[in-house]
Amino acid sequence: MQTYAYGYPRLGKDRLYKRALEAYWKGTITRAQLEEALRDTEQERLDAYRKSVDAYPIGEFTLYDAMLDTAIMLGVYPIDPANFDAYFELARGASALPLSKWFNTNYHYLVPSLAPGLEFRLHWPKPLVDFTAHRAEALSAPSQQPASASPLHPTECFPYVIGPYTFARLSRGISPSELPTVVAALVPAYAELFEQLHNAGARYIHVDEPAFVLDVPEDDIRAITDAYTLLGQKAPLLVMTYYDSVDFLSALVDLPIAGIGVDLVHGTRNWEHLSRISIPADKVLIAGIVDGRNVWKTDLFSVAAQVHRLQEQVKGLIWLSNAGPLMHLPVSVESETTLDPALQERLAFAQERLEELRLLRELLTMGETESARRWNAYQYSTQHWSIPSVQERIASLRPEDFNRSVPYSERRHQQVSLPLLPTTTIGSFPQTPQVRQMRQAYRAGKISAEEYREFIRSQIKQLIALQEELGLDVFVHGEFERSDMVEFFAEKLDGIATTQHGWILSYGTRVYRPPIIYGDVHRSAPMTVEEITFAQSLTSKPVKGMLTGPVTILTWSYPRIDIPREQVAYQLALAINDEVRDLEAAGIRIIQIDEPAYREGAPLKRAEWDAYFRWASNAFKLAASAGPQTQMHTHMCYSDFTAVLHYIDWMDADVITIEAARSKGELLSAFERYNYARQIGPGVFDVHTPAVPSVESIETVLQRALRVLPPEQVWVNPDCGLKTRAWEEVIPALRNMVQAAKRIRASYQGDAQPVSTGASHATQHS
Ligand code: GLN
Ligand code: ZN
Repeated sequence: MQTYAYGYPRLGKDRLYKRALEAYWKGTITRAQLEEALRDTEQERLDAYRKSVDAYPIGEFTLYDAMLDTAIMLGVYPIDPANFDAYFELARGASALPLSKWFNTNYHYLVPSLAPGLEFRLHWPKPLVDFTAHRAEALSAPSQQPASASPLHPTECFPYVIGPYTFARLSRGISPSELPTVVAALVPAYAELFEQLHNAGARYIHVDEPAFVLDVPEDDIRAITDAYTLLGQKAPLLVMTYYDSVDFLSALVDLPIAGIGVDLVHGTRNWEHLSRISIPADKVLIAGIVDGRNVWKTDLFSVAAQVHRLQEQVKGLIWLSNAGPLMHLPVSVESETTLDPALQERLAFAQERLEELRLLRELLTMGETESARRWNAYQYSTQHWSIPSVQERIASLRPEDFNRSVPYSERRHQQVSLPLLPTTTIGSFPQTPQVRQMRQAYRAGKISAEEYREFIRSQIKQLIALQEELGLDVFVHGEFERSDMVEFFAEKLDGIATTQHGWILSYGTRVYRPPIIYGDVHRSAPMTVEEITFAQSLTSKPVKGMLTGPVTILTWSYPRIDIPREQVAYQLALAINDEVRDLEAAGIRIIQIDEPAYREGAPLKRAEWDAYFRWASNAFKLAASAGPQTQMHTHMCYSDFTAVLHYIDWMDADVITIEAARSKGELLSAFERYNYARQIGPGVFDVHTPAVPSVESIETVLQRALRVLPPEQVWVNPDCGLKTRAWEEVIPALRNMVQAAKRIRASYQGDAQPVSTGASHATQHS
């Protein structure tokens, strides 16, 4: 019984990866210092593997992103990888590749652009470079394993490569029907690489193919089969899949590959597939059986029983592994000092997952051990954290609790009256170093709660004055009191814990700490009412209440596992709705519930979308159920929404603000085709760049919107929150935005005929 682990966090224990790269970008450390720090973080990863498992990949290291590295490797961006300036230009410079969500995770990868007919070649054999550099050292490292335990002795490492299908499928610039041709075009470069790795002594090659778990059309399966039939002859390949089940597993088994990695935690259907196919004796099954996506300790005994069953079905070798790369988990539970001990002893982060693999191997080879018994004594259990009143509330929900009493077409007229093309922002304003310092000082006990509160009030006051001066129509309070839109609510809600050091990478060097939903969720006191009502007391313009939605809190946290995700979402929704009711009672007329993760929370397989979006929109509606006079907004960003418009419609929000500044009007035409009846604020400028948009550029975006939507449906706003921008960027940008709105609004005065938009939607509607 072997163990194999992969995807261990590159962030390092004290976020050394982040600190080093950011210091290098700022110019406070030299390139040599950067390289040393990165070597240290990589060493930490390898040490962690060696301590617990028999084999692991080498070359998972990346300066920024593995998809970018693969694109450079294949000559799509033929830069010299030793030229860090050129590399970081592609990663985060003015001409950086766009970011997109990696499968259904909150990691964002850099999306390469391909074109049909593009020729690939092995420009940079990165896996070979990494393998040869580390191999000698890895093989000479003293093994921590009892020698008898492992024929892979000493700890062995295999080169790591992102496979051709995943690379092509996740790139842009090619249509789905061109995918098979592109995969075929990638084969020669991969064949060359695999041959070189084989010659360099790699016993196996880890080929990441998570895209195999998506809906893979027949033509693609044929292309995959052709590609691997050839590639499998160049070297022994371990084809790794994860995040869900592989629907064409039986076809994969027939390929001349050395092993297949499957996710047996999140790909529950893989169990069924495995029971129906026979894996030949010369193949390795890498069984992902400890969870790479959630933080609860594995039940070692029941997993051991599962593995026994698997051994009866599978003729070949079984290696025990993690299900999904461990990068979605923080480094170690050990660093946490303030968690409830009853919670802490039930958690397993990345380091603990490796320990679990070690314990499992022991359990399976030596029989029940004392250490396994001890580990298993701490399993997630509801009994510790249940709140009967919350469960009763969920049990007594009726269909009408999910719906607003008055349909949109009628309630619209009962809501706050605003000028045509109302202007607003998405919620947050610059989180300056001063704001962050004050929050840290407050958390460290250096300033009192009262001092902190006064500071936040002063910020709100200045922002209200600024919005008056800018002439915006709907104000916000600025979110100065919030560190992070999910963590802020997690800290206030019962049943959710936040960590001190539980950082994971979101993209590049950006990190966040997912909260842990461990019990029934309950709001014991108002969370935002004080700040919002204070802001509202300073102005006669409406101030938007600002909340994070249940689906986003759920998706960006680690959930409990004893009840379905949808039940957790409903509990969160009720807690948020309690806040909505309090805001309403306090006289707030507009409330925004952000759901940026609504799309991302969707399952990877289309067939499961309806069921997901049904409960996700129900959770949103439960949170947003308010009197007809209250205008409910939602906000989404960072996703391709064109395929999910009808699901967005299910949410029944009065207004949606959405990222559109960069999507060149495609999104808007999709809204038009769909005949979306509610109000939409397409982002009129991109908040992710420091450039100040001109009045004309904003007018252009607006006019594009007005070609497909009647003006009564259109709002004017940036495409996301402004918290990462500087005041010097934000103020002129908003000034221009208000100016553009005013100019276009003026063109509608008198009749509904816009002066400058040419053939317009308004014409069709008049
Ligand atoms: N209201 C949040 C903000 O403005 C929304 C953030 C988001 O969409 N991710 O920061
Ligand atoms: Zn956003």
